[in-house]
Amino acid sequence: MGVSETEAIVLRTYKLAEADKITVFLSQNFGVMRGVARGARRLKSKFGAALEPFTLVSLSYFEKEGQELVAIRQADILRSYFELSTNTEVVVALEYIGGLILEFIPPHEPNEKVFRMIRACLEALASTPENLRHITRYCEVWLLKLSGFLPDLRTCVHCKKPLSVSGEKIYLGIDGALRCDACAHKLDLPVSGEATAHLRATQRLAPGDWARSASTVSDRVHKELSQVAERLITRALERLPKGRATVQ
Ligand SMILES: [Zn+2]
Repeated sequence: MGVSETEAIVLRTYKLAEADKITVFLSQNFGVMRGVARGARRLKSKFGAALEPFTLVSLSYFEKEGQELVAIRQADILRSYFELSTNTEVVVALEYIGGLILEFIPPHEPNEKVFRMIRACLEALASTPENLRHITRYCEVWLLKLSGFLPDLRTCVHCKKPLSVSGEKIYLGIDGALRCDACAHKLDLPVSGEATAHLRATQRLAPGDWARSASTVSDRVHKELSQVAERLITRALERLPKGRATVQ
């Protein structure tokens, strides 16, 4: 308790009273947090533009035992990503990703891997905004992975046979597991070897590199990757998250 400091990414803000803001952060050291920024809506606020969504800030805050909201003392901009805020498609996708983080990552649970992944995705997006849909897909796959909802991409869940990326199709069940051709169920989603290879590559490539390789795939494979992500997310959350239709 007391004063703490961390790097954090602003996910969203809400108005509070006349001059304040409630800000939701993904922090490096303390996971998802909510805080009050007193006076943040005043014209000459000390927070300036630091609380704009997806700004990377150095955050200083005060925490009182038993209180859900921390008091934000200071937020200094480390990286603004202001250039992305003029691109409507990017803004819509980031809103969706922010919502997904809040769905998958429980509050106050430190998870530095999620923070680093999202920070790397923002950097990739800033340098190649044209790869938006691929970077969004990468975020989805990694949020599934880090919350334990990404299936084993290498072996059939039933017979334990290695899953091929060159020969026969593999199948994604409504239970979120992957099966070989022989073990597939009736309603399973067929996934090509090419799509499976790209899914596997998310686990070893940085977001910018993965997005570059994914940008060369056909529309058919892109659609498959999107369908796989959608099925796994829907299974994890038991519904389709808000905004998913806009980021296919
Ligand atoms: Zn099998």
